[in-house]
Amino acid sequence: MALRLYAATTSDGKLRDFYTAAQTHSISIEPLPALRTIPPPLEDGTTFQANATLKAIYYSHFASGELVLADDSGLEVDALHGEPGVRSARFAADIGLVDSPDANDNTDVWNNMLLLQKMSEIPDSLRTARYHCTLVVARDGEVVQVADGTVEGTILDAPRGTGGFGYDPLFYLPELGKSMAEIDLETKLSLSHRGRAIAALLENMRA
Ligand code: IMP
Repeated sequence: MALRLYAATTSDGKLRDFYTAAQTHSISIEPLPALRTIPPPLEDGTTFQANATLKAIYYSHFASGELVLADDSGLEVDALHGEPGVRSARFAADIGLVDSPDANDNTDVWNNMLLLQKMSEIPDSLRTARYHCTLVVARDGEVVQVADGTVEGTILDAPRGTGGFGYDPLFYLPELGKSMAEIDLETKLSLSHRGRAIAALLENMRA
């Protein structure tokens, strides 16, 4: 029987990445049943792994005996000393520009505006950044597997492309000459932090 993972995320962008991964790797990744009715846990960890772990353990209690997959990810900008990092979803919310990360569809727009503003004086040579993703699989409150993935890039001075989500229009991949929002989902998955973390996770689980 194909491996089945229940994804504990309501992010459409992450779910699209997971569905593409499921097709590529011949596994089944389904949204955790009734996820939207479950109150989310407080994501107060200071590392991606801490947050992914607390989410995976918490949500696994709502799917007895099943493998539950949680993702914590974000953008680390070198010129901003690793910001927004684990606060990527809440970058603008943390300084009151939006009410909460889920309050409206404009959160990504505000996050990107804030990033552009903070980077406005930074020269091209110092605009390096990376996406990081930590995936944790848990079952019945116990961690079963952990995997990480990163992808290196630079921060553009204006958005490019209409695909992807989050910071993708500002994240430039020098080796492709495109932003993360200008590439198709399969290409994104082949080189992205989430794609690499999924590949590592499945390798570990099959070992
Ligand atoms: P989390 O839901 O706490 O893991 O927050 C992740 C945040 O990091 C998202 O809301 C995005 O702002 C950003 N992020 C993570 N992965 C990606 C990606 O693949 N593309 C664009 N932004 C991402």
